[in-house]
Amino acid sequence: MDTITLTNPIDMHIHLRQDSLLQAVLPYSASCFSAVLAMPNLNPPLLNTQSVLAYKEKIMMECDFEKAYNIILPHINNQNPQANLLNIQQHFVPIMSLYVHDNLTLAEIQKAKTSGIKILKLYPKGATTNAENGMSEVLTPNFLTLLEEAQRLGMILSIHGESNGFSMDREREFLFIFEELAKSFPTLKIIIEHLSDRHSIEMVHKYPNLFGTITLHHLLLTLDDVIGGKLNPFMFCKPVVKTPKDREAILEVALSGDSKFSFGSDSAPHTIEAKMNGAAGIFNAPILLQALCSLFDKHKKIENLQDFVSCNALQIYDISLPFVKHVILQKKPFVFGRQISTQVGDIEVFMGNEILDYCIADIRTEVA
Ligand SMILES: [Zn+2]
Repeated sequence: MDTITLTNPIDMHIHLRQDSLLQAVLPYSASCFSAVLAMPNLNPPLLNTQSVLAYKEKIMMECDFEKAYNIILPHINNQNPQANLLNIQQHFVPIMSLYVHDNLTLAEIQKAKTSGIKILKLYPKGATTNAENGMSEVLTPNFLTLLEEAQRLGMILSIHGESNGFSMDREREFLFIFEELAKSFPTLKIIIEHLSDRHSIEMVHKYPNLFGTITLHHLLLTLDDVIGGKLNPFMFCKPVVKTPKDREAILEVALSGDSKFSFGSDSAPHTIEAKMNGAAGIFNAPILLQALCSLFDKHKKIENLQDFVSCNALQIYDISLPFVKHVILQKKPFVFGRQISTQVGDIEVFMGNEILDYCIADIRTEVA
């Protein structure tokens, strides 16, 4: 039997949303991943430590065995996956992030760090969903003072790096800000999130304190998948998928297992109605590990997947887990299904209709 075991898969960029949407999408991540970095761009956004901690509590409350079991079981090949689903709460860590905004204070940053929140998430104003409270300008004296403190505290700065220029150039145009920050704060770890432009890879390689996260869809899609034939709103995300050259470069770096890049799905559920109205974001949480295995295997690089989907993140973000979760994938055709239904409407699943080469055969956990 052709199987691969992934140990402690980690998703360093995910939108878990709120309320009924959180309930509907969380089980896919909580069952198959050991840790995820939960994004703070809720409505309203998580602008202070208190709201981040309250959100973390809500996430943990939804890590419920009964719900997860019913949602996940039909998609696991072995109908008796034991340990993990029985105590999902003990085997899942949501890593939290604080939303950076113009009025953020030094005291709030210190409070966040003391409360175990190590990641600062920066959105330029209006760059994506719920980014209206984002930074109007990044390189201001006030913010640089905050970053000085963040560096001293050993925090990590994750950035949705896009200018407000022409959509295909936005990421490249923002790179000078990464360069400024990397030079000014040489021991502050800075992450170029959901990297979509090949020039960003060069920038990450240029500075030891710069890193990147990479989504599944930026490994697979180009702009032609969005507008090359009939307009496909379900392939629309931000940063927008780019040229074949960009995709090839990003794919190459991911397949190599390069230690400066970790996996971050940017799974971003929107209802079909919202997608038809132009919402940016791709919902891929239910098929991530199956699709990554299929992709890495197809390129004969399956031996590097463990680094890409776990080890690199453990190292970059200095994550330690009190447990070990093994997700066993089996080479066997798997189709998840086109959509999931939620209380707020149906959600289209990325690659939901495609035949993937791998399915999840089992999930096992043990004490670290
Ligand atoms: Zn995102």
